[in-house]
Amino acid sequence: MREKIGVVGAGIVGLAVARELATVRGAEVTVLEKEGRVGAHQTGHNSGVVHAGIYYPPGSLKARLCREGVALLKEYCAAHGVAYQEVGKLVIASTRAERPRLSALAERARANGVPGIAELDALALREIEPHAVGVGAVHSPYTAICDFPAVARRLALDVAELGGSVRLGYPVRAIRERAGRVEVLAGRRRHVFDQLVVCGGLGTDAVARMAGAPGNVRIVPFRGEFYALKGAARDLVRGLVYPVPDPRYPFLGVHLTRQVDGRVLVGPNAVLALAYEGYRWRNFRNIGQILGWPGTLRMARSHWRTGLREVRGSLLKSAFVSDARRYVPELTAADLERAPGGVRAQAVARDGRLLDDFVVDVHGKVVLVRNAPSPAATSSLAIARHIAGIVPALVR
Ligand SMILES: Cc1cc2nc3c(=O)[nH]c(=O)nc-3n(C[C@H](O)[C@H](O)[C@H](O)COP(=O)(O)OP(=O)(O)OC[C@H]3O[C@@H](n4cnc5c(N)ncnc54)[C@H](O)[C@@H]3O)c2cc1C
Repeated sequence: MREKIGVVGAGIVGLAVARELATVRGAEVTVLEKEGRVGAHQTGHNSGVVHAGIYYPPGSLKARLCREGVALLKEYCAAHGVAYQEVGKLVIASTRAERPRLSALAERARANGVPGIAELDALALREIEPHAVGVGAVHSPYTAICDFPAVARRLALDVAELGGSVRLGYPVRAIRERAGRVEVLAGRRRHVFDQLVVCGGLGTDAVARMAGAPGNVRIVPFRGEFYALKGAARDLVRGLVYPVPDPRYPFLGVHLTRQVDGRVLVGPNAVLALAYEGYRWRNFRNIGQILGWPGTLRMARSHWRTGLREVRGSLLKSAFVSDARRYVPELTAADLERAPGGVRAQAVARDGRLLDDFVVDVHGKVVLVRNAPSPAATSSLAIARHIAGIVPALVR
């Protein structure tokens, strides 16, 4: 009999996991998704950048799965005609004080095996991005952009072609393990699986609680707001322009990113949201759970200055514009219009630490992806391989 595996969440990670399990294990997979379409949350609301692996500590899961993920994704997009363009990326130091961090980044990128890394001076960076300024930059010529929602839709087709199913409009409401199997109540139907993999993004904690695995970390949502460049201002950026990130945070700072459809996004910032799907300021739906987690307040106490700066950038367009103008000074407020934002699912520990690496836990017959922030879209196909190696083999 075919092994039956359930996957919660039809984001790019859940769909990649389902495809991998159907392919390598020959499992009959069922993906349960509460929304009416695939990629409705983080997968459909991100910067669209295929990260090359510059930032992550060598030896971390992020470093390894990002590099593997890039190779798999590039091949997958080519095989299925999904847009993928190596537009290249500059990480720009705007002050001399940032130079040592820039050099450290170049070293880390080389240690991670990122190809083509070059350190450029103020003049050379303008040959790559003629409208950008800085005292120096790291150039990653193969950093790419991709249509992640299209990848997710294609993965869903693969799952169906492999005999599995993607059930949309099926919110998972209850989970229990019984007689060595996992019963899942989703929508109005009861499903019985041999194993369950949870890739619930912003909904992870709720599903973990249903599985009796609350764990030691919680998802804290960080809204990422974007603007888009209008008209001729789009020509001010050829590829991807990033600041030197603050090493204390997993977020990369407001950047300018060309999209596969020709738009150029500016953002995202990182504002603590008070609802898991807090796409708007006024949504306080999960305030109790989010502020009730001791890690949230501890994090806020340690990082209140940065938090206030992010809030300022959220409320004042001028603050957002001045961040972008540090790298592309020709930009004016009139060049930017609001664009839809996203919400990151970022795991935070009880002591307030923002978890940097990907985290996957096993609880009985349930495998839980606890932390899959950026670059999880880039790494999705490699994360899927990693998880397929973790899901215990079926013993009947
Ligand atoms: C603003 C922003 C910018 C980013 N930029 C990049 C980037 O440039 N490059 C990159 O690689 N990554 C980027 N990321 C990160 C990337 O988007 C995510 O890491 C990735 O999409 C995670 O995929 P996922 O499948 O885990 O989560 P999601 O896409 O969020 O999918 C989780 C799914 O689970 C479903 N779900 C939750 N609870 C339940 C339930 N109870 N029952 C059924 N279904 C449920 C949700 O509806 C959702 O569809 C960015 C993220 C954000 C927010």
